[in-house]
Amino acid sequence: MNQENCLFCKIVLKKIPSAVVYEGDEVLGFKDVNPQAPVHYLFVPKRHLGSVSQVTTTENPVGLLVLAATHCARELKMDSTGYRLVMNHGHDGGQTVEHLHLHLLGGRSMKWPPG
Ligand code: 5GP
Ligand code: ZN
Repeated sequence: MNQENCLFCKIVLKKIPSAVVYEGDEVLGFKDVNPQAPVHYLFVPKRHLGSVSQVTTTENPVGLLVLAATHCARELKMDSTGYRLVMNHGHDGGQTVEHLHLHLLGGRSMKWPPG
């Protein structure tokens, strides 16, 4: 279920401290330690899954991550200003932590391509 050497599993288990912004039965949301925007939250499934490429029809927490992120975005009144949701996979996608996570970025203009 949880992997001993996984950073985000340790954050889920509160073995490593984080600034928690959302907690549900299956999802934890916390502030990114190196924020790239005024709002930069990460949403992770409490059960370890390596990345979006490991999502299956039976193991698919992505909808829950999106619901948690949009809930927080709404609370932060970012619905009118806008925000970005990002999932990175693998080397070329820039994934640095191998535990599925959804980034919520907002609080500034972030027109594509990312700057
Ligand atoms: P990735 O590049 O894998 O899509 O995103 C991983 C994110 O995790 C990065 O934005 C990075 O700043 C963040 N991060 C790495 N280590 C920690 C940590 O110990 N605590 C928190 N809160 N965020 C972290
Ligand atoms: Zn993990």
